[in-house]
Amino acid sequence: KSTGKIHKTDQPQTTFDDIAGYKEVKEEIQEVVQFLRDPSRFRQAGAEVPKGMLMVGPPGTGKTLLAKAVAGEAGVPFISVTGSDFMEMFVGVGASRVRDLFKTARENAPSIIFIDELDSIGRKRGAGLGGGHDEREQTLNQLLGEIDGFEGSTGVVIMGATNRPDVLDPALTRPGRFDRQIVVPLPTLEERDQILRIHMRGKPIGADVDPNTIARGTPGMAGADLKNLVNEAALIAVRENSPEIRMQDFERARERQTIGRERSTLQLG
Ligand code: ATP
Repeated sequence: KSTGKIHKTDQPQTTFDDIAGYKEVKEEIQEVVQFLRDPSRFRQAGAEVPKGMLMVGPPGTGKTLLAKAVAGEAGVPFISVTGSDFMEMFVGVGASRVRDLFKTARENAPSIIFIDELDSIGRKRGAGLGGGHDEREQTLNQLLGEIDGFEGSTGVVIMGATNRPDVLDPALTRPGRFDRQIVVPLPTLEERDQILRIHMRGKPIGADVDPNTIARGTPGMAGADLKNLVNEAALIAVRENSPEIRMQDFERARERQTIGRERSTLQLG
């Protein structure tokens, strides 16, 4: 679609309690929460808060969740857009969408702009291959211009997420733009344990289920995979008419995930 807005505005209820682990990340973004709660306090002190934060990490590690939690904790609107939605637009349309996005954010300030898949708008410029390329450059130039155009004290914070920081145009990460980088890595063993516990909340979990054992058997999994694992186990329990989700259901779910992954690798290879 080439008309209409592509950004969404909502008021997330997500808080830091919904996110397991990432203690340091939470501490780091706590300052942004304080700022959004009361921008005038920072203005009076002449303190500058970073305008843009870039969250970098593999898929499914909770970057979107973290950005939402900042909005939820601060009680401000969350205005989000996905970078790939800007692709394949007519010349000038992407740029006008970016303008729209920032306008909405200013009107709703204090607020958060969240750009997922920042790399799809923010790829390095310059190769000059014509056509769609020019359109992408215009969109990126508009984004850079909008970021430069507002003062830190406006009360708008931009958060971007990417798993490809290496392809970003260096102009994006210059001081005054996305100049704070927050690394969101795959969860550790202990964090996997905590993530599993969060997603088990409110579900009929059998007494034989040990999140720690499951965490040990799932190295390399991101939060999104763990959430999916709990859901798969619940589905298996339902199918087998079990009133509780048992350890064996988690084992089966784990096997299924592994098989699913092997299949998709086979298809790719
Ligand atoms: P992508 O890069 O693919 O957009 P992402 O890093 O933005 O992924 P999210 O979409 O935030 O990841 O995470 C997907 C889901 O995984 C979340 O909605 C949440 O349910 C779960 N999840 C991920 N990390 C955590 C965590 N640390 N604690 C609790 N749940 C988590």
